[in-house]
Amino acid sequence: MNTKTEHEIEVAIIGGGVAGCIAAIALAESHSVVLIDKLSEPAERLGECLAPAARRILKRLNLLTDFERTIPSDHPSLHLKSMGMQSYWGSEQVHVVDPLRNPDGFGWHVDRRAFEVYLREAAVQRGVECFWPMQLHNTRYADSRWYITAVSGDKAGTTYNFRAKFVIDASGRQSHFARKLGVERQHFDKLVAYWATLPDYETNKMSTISASELGWWYSAPLPNNKRVIVLQTDSDLVDKRIKNCDQFIELARANREMAGILERNHGEIRFQKTAAANSTRLQQVAGQQWAALGDAATSFDPLSSQGMFNAMAGALQLTDLILESGFTKDLCPDKMLQFQAAYTNQIDQIWQHYLKHKRIYYGQERRWEDAAFWRRRQ
Ligand SMILES: Cc1cc2nc3c(=O)[nH]c(=O)nc-3n(C[C@H](O)[C@H](O)[C@H](O)COP(=O)(O)OP(=O)(O)OC[C@H]3O[C@@H](n4cnc5c(N)ncnc54)[C@H](O)[C@@H]3O)c2cc1C
Repeated sequence: MNTKTEHEIEVAIIGGGVAGCIAAIALAESHSVVLIDKLSEPAERLGECLAPAARRILKRLNLLTDFERTIPSDHPSLHLKSMGMQSYWGSEQVHVVDPLRNPDGFGWHVDRRAFEVYLREAAVQRGVECFWPMQLHNTRYADSRWYITAVSGDKAGTTYNFRAKFVIDASGRQSHFARKLGVERQHFDKLVAYWATLPDYETNKMSTISASELGWWYSAPLPNNKRVIVLQTDSDLVDKRIKNCDQFIELARANREMAGILERNHGEIRFQKTAAANSTRLQQVAGQQWAALGDAATSFDPLSSQGMFNAMAGALQLTDLILESGFTKDLCPDKMLQFQAAYTNQIDQIWQHYLKHKRIYYGQERRWEDAAFWRRRQ
């Protein structure tokens, strides 16, 4: 059976990841919001370090208490307190960044899937109409509204017609909505991440970053006695060298710090698929009654460890601008143009700041100046 349902709403958000959920929760009190995701539940993925400053955002949205609540020991944990980072970058000497001097205190290593489930549930509880799994079929703009047609990914295959005053594209690096509008995405490098998970028996709960000729490695403990180990390199440099777990382990063993981690954490290593990790941005981040948010707008090199925080902070900046201007209520064209200019300016500033820091950080590693990976970044 293929029934049709019609929904008249103020804001449609495409993508129920960190960015989409935070934006939905921030708007739920003042707007009718739908949140659409193609996946019935969040996938297991990379990206576990949640910066201490995220505490402010969780607190402002009344999400912090539940997030930090003590979970009974027979339940899987949502997060682990982050004890900082040990970095082998620029030399073989370790440089430790601990959270003690951070005014926001400790950050977390989250179970990424569990964190996203937590945010999705919070959005539902706050009255956001959530639809997943949902496949987007068609979007068109007419009479000052966006018309979005989507079909549920379940057996029923129900067709949903959404009529929205404003659309937020929070669909991650795919920037599905903006791409359909023909907005180009700029790619600044070819960085890709190869990753594996393994058991964690270490008492040292810091994450580790270590540069190598081919790129750089990191490893971080996860909740529930797991650990992730990741190689960042350019896709054309490894080519077909990492086809399976054995090849990945062989490369990891060639790095002193990763070899130590593998040695101390015996057990089954699960080689996962690769993930795009390159710096990219949309050429246009806001347009006629729409804006892109989080990775959909700008995606960062994981060296920054700030992608989730950026998605959350960006969601609050965007929703604050929407609330301040009020254009989603009266659709005043002048207010809308002011909003577009202000939001574009904010994203530009963040992007310029990011590029500057990325250059400085990569510039500090000079041990392999002739190696292609480092040459490209200096
Ligand atoms: C190797 C690596 C390591 C990283 N490590 C960290 C880290 O330690 N700390 C950190 O803060 N960040 C890290 N990041 C970055 C972080 O994961 C991202 O910045 C963050 O996920 C961005 O959130 P988002 O909600 O914008 O996008 P996403 O998390 O990508 O969410 C997008 C959502 O949209 C949905 N979607 C996609 N297409 C459609 C569609 N057509 N229709 C409907 N729904 C759709 C997806 O299912 C998903 O739920 C890392 C990234 C990489 C690649």
